Amino acid sequence: MVLIALLLACGGLILLWVAGRQRRETGLPQGRVVYVDSTAWEEAPQSLYDPVTNLTGKPDYLVQQGEMVIPVEVKSTRVKDAPYDGHLYQLAAYCLLVERTFGTRPPYGILHYANRTFEIPYTTELESALLNLLNEMQEKGRKQRHPRSHNVPARCRHCGYRHICDQKLA
Ligand code: SF4
Repeated sequence: MVLIALLLACGGLILLWVAGRQRRETGLPQGRVVYVDSTAWEEAPQSLYDPVTNLTGKPDYLVQQGEMVIPVEVKSTRVKDAPYDGHLYQLAAYCLLVERTFGTRPPYGILHYANRTFEIPYTTELESALLNLLNEMQEKGRKQRHPRSHNVPARCRHCGYRHICDQKLA
């Protein structure tokens, strides 16, 4: 399938290298720390799918704000000063899915860690970085198939790339 190359993330190193390189090239947003009222968050009822990119994923929550729908991803881990790259891409994928599903572009998404919450602007630069990463992964996938290197469902559940990986375990 199209996103086979994301299995490179099983080893972690190559995908993180790609993400890190793109982050340096594109200046991915760090986001700003915000305080949020999570009582307004509603669990996303179902997975979202975009046939153009073949992306699928289910944000933890969707927040309706007027005409806008804001995706929220919740992480049980703590973070220091900035979100992790993989989480930024995951949130960007949810923003893309929200836009293509509901027809309204979310201006930002929310990354909620155990110790702080970031509002991440869904900029055209972040969207481009995501699409470039997907294209790069697809290209690598066409050239070389990397099978999943483990059989640990918990590892996939906590993987930042599970939403775009076609070999994830339940
Ligand atoms: S979801 Fe699982 S199989 Fe896919 S990249 Fe992550 S850890 Fe590997």
